[in-house]
Order: sequence, then structure tokens, then C-alpha cells
Amino acid sequence: ALSGSTAGDGFRGSEGLLTRASAVIPGGVNSPVRAFRAVGGTPRFMASGKGAWLTDVDGNRYVDLICSWGPMILGHAHPDVLRAVEETAARGFSFGTPSENEVALAEEIVARIEPVDQVRLVNSGTEATMSAIRLARGYTQRDVIVKFSGCYHGHVDALLASAGSGVATFALPDSAGVPRSSAGETIVLPYNDLDAVEAAFAERGHEIAAVITEAAPGNMGVVPPDPGFTEGLRRITREHGALLISDEVMTGFRCSRAGFYGVEGPYAAGPADLFTFGKVMGGGFPTAAFGGRADVMALLAPAGPVYQAGTLSGNPVASAAGLATLRGCTDEVYARLDVAARAIADAASEALTAASVPHTVQWAGSMFSIFFREGPVRNYDEAKTQDVDAFRRFFHSMLEQGVHLPPSSFESWFVSAAHDDAAVAHVVDALPAAARAAAAGD
Ligand code: PLP
Repeated sequence: ALSGSTAGDGFRGSEGLLTRASAVIPGGVNSPVRAFRAVGGTPRFMASGKGAWLTDVDGNRYVDLICSWGPMILGHAHPDVLRAVEETAARGFSFGTPSENEVALAEEIVARIEPVDQVRLVNSGTEATMSAIRLARGYTQRDVIVKFSGCYHGHVDALLASAGSGVATFALPDSAGVPRSSAGETIVLPYNDLDAVEAAFAERGHEIAAVITEAAPGNMGVVPPDPGFTEGLRRITREHGALLISDEVMTGFRCSRAGFYGVEGPYAAGPADLFTFGKVMGGGFPTAAFGGRADVMALLAPAGPVYQAGTLSGNPVASAAGLATLRGCTDEVYARLDVAARAIADAASEALTAASVPHTVQWAGSMFSIFFREGPVRNYDEAKTQDVDAFRRFFHSMLEQGVHLPPSSFESWFVSAAHDDAAVAHVVDALPAAARAAAAGD
């Protein structure tokens, strides 16, 4: 079967692998949102990816609108990235000593984002936010962190409270296993509500080390900051001697060369003190970073007293993949992301309107998601009132027609520069039937 996931052998291969996986891996997956729990059915086990397309173990092909949850901005197995990886790997995989690629990757990041003087490379977005928080606590000598409900910053203890992404998808209040002491040092506020931020600082400002926010939230679906919101966070944190951490793990190098900062910044009130990055900057390999003001970064070991480390941090192969990906992110690439994303979103909206399915499309650069409710959606409480059953029907219709959406209505849709006219047309053709399925009920 070349397209349409129910053709040919169906998905027996994926079912077999899920059975095997479930015996040895909890829930059969290594990250919860892959499990299809929110939409039901069998997750497809992928065998390969090329450009905009994925092929599963049964030979079914899909236009990929997950793009590994963001990293694959140039498409799968891009020749330049592949060459960089092969050439680097041939010279050894990891040395545990400094090497040049990590320097070049750090230089590339610092060159792109003006307020970032220095970065430390880590292995995942979770490590980046975890380390940024430790650094902010070390710098301010305070313990309390403010986060916004619906924002996901990885599975860091202090940041799992009212988190987005999988925590939202599975409607978990919080994770078990997070110490009360850790959660007790986290203040969770509604997104886009500066009054709530003012009130929290009025009460506990002298204890607050940092406010962490997604530069533009993409983990409760896409909810862009209201005009002035980020600016307000900068003003309030500065007034109280707290740091502002802008989490660009998802938006970084995707919304623009300089991430969402490049879309909305620079701000009159000044930039965030610290930024976190991941996804695109690793090109599909496990690498991420946190960085920012030189005087704050100077506190990191071995220069300073805040400890942070990693056996594989700055891995030469991952750094080569990230560097080749960032260098491949030309103006034409960003233009193509815009064209592909707009075409898909417009067609989806048209199809849903034609089928009388309430919905709204929201944007952050070329990142978008479709909420299955009327808009606007400004925070997590509003995001939660979606018709998740309509999404589930929509999702499965798309999947059967060879389009792989994120299996949750709380996630951004991702395109790549490899989403050419043929891939976009394949998605557009699938939308009317999916919209009718969404409308139909069970
Ligand atoms: N921060 C944001 C904004 C994210 O979207 C994510 C992952 O989705 C993370 C942090 C965590 O990154 P990772 O999954 O690489 O640990």
C-alpha cells in the first residue's frame, strides 16, 4: 500500500510491535503522547521517514504533521544533515572531552539570538529547563518558581504542575511522585493574566527566583501571548529582582531564525535573562541548550558554584546534526514553512466550517493548532473546553487517509520545508472527509 493506512496489510505489524513493546516498556512507548491513549487505536510504528513522509512497518505512508514534535524542520533524512552525521560519526561518536562541533553549534545559537551571550549544551529540553531553574535559583538565592498552567517545560518535578502536552492530553492534575516540597515551591498562574502575576509578586515577590514561560505556548495547543503580556512579565520580574526564563524549546529556530523572540521581540522592557532551546537545534538528535546573560551564565560550574554536567552533553554527532539543520534554515525554508502551514490550516478551517464543526485556528509564526471549539483561546481553562471526541474522529479519518496528525488536540501541528505542494495537496484532499467524520458523532 502506498498511501492510506488501512490499505494492504492494515497495521498488523504495528499491532505486533505494540504487543511486544507493552511487555517490556510501560504502556508500550517511551513517551506518553505516542501511545494514542487520547484518540484510541494502535500507534503506528514507523520504519522510515523521507522528506514530508513517514512509512510504517506495514508499508503505509503518511504525510507527517508531527515532525518528531518539532525537530524535523527540514524534513526527514535531509541529505545535508545526513552527510554531516555520517562524516562526523565516522570519526567517533563521543569523546568525553571538548570538541569543535559543540563550539560551532553554540556560536550559531549565540549569533542568532541577540540577548543570548552564552549557552550550555544539554541532551533534552527537560534538562535545559531544569538547569535554567537551578541557575536562576543560584543567581537570585531564592527558591520559588512561577509557571503558567498549560505550559509544558519537560518532566521537571517543579514544572509538572498544571502542565500541558501529555499532562493535558491525559487530564492529569499533576504527576504522582513529585515531592510536596517541590510542588510547594511552584506558583501556577493562568496564562495571559498579568493581574495574577502582579498579585503573586505582591504577596511573595521576595521569594520568587524566576518566572518561566513558553515564548509562545504550544503545549495546550497554540496560545500566543496577548500583546504586552511578555513585556509585562519582563517589567514585573525586574521590579522584584526575579529572572525571566523564556522557554523556546518548541518555538526556537522554528517561528523564525531567532525563534519567537525574532517574531515578537525585541521588547522595550528588555529581553528575558535566560532562554531554553531544544528540538530544531538538534535536527532530530538529542541535544538542547540553555543560555542567556553572561553574568548569569558565569555562575555555572566550572566557572561558578551552580553545578550542571552531562556525559554526552555537546555530543559531536548530535551537534553536527544540529549545526547542519540550523545552517539549512534559510529564508526560503521559513517562507516555505509559512506557505505550507497556511495552506493546510486554511483548508482545514474551510473543511470544518463546511461540516459545521466549531473550531478556531491559532498561530505562533508558522506553528499552529486547531482547537475544536470557538475562539479565541487565551489560556488552559479555555483550551480544556474543546470537543475532544470530534478531534478523535477527525484524527482517525486523517490517519486512514495517510496523514499523521499529533494524536491529541492539545498539541501544535508541525510542518517542514519538505512539505511541498504534493504533500500539502495530499493533506488538503483528506480534510473534507475528516471534517465530516468530526461532525458525524459516533
Ligand atoms: N519545553 C517545551 C516548550 C517543550 O515543548 C518541551 C517538549 O515538548 C520541553 C520543554 C521538554 O523537552 P524534551 O521533551 O526534549 O525534554
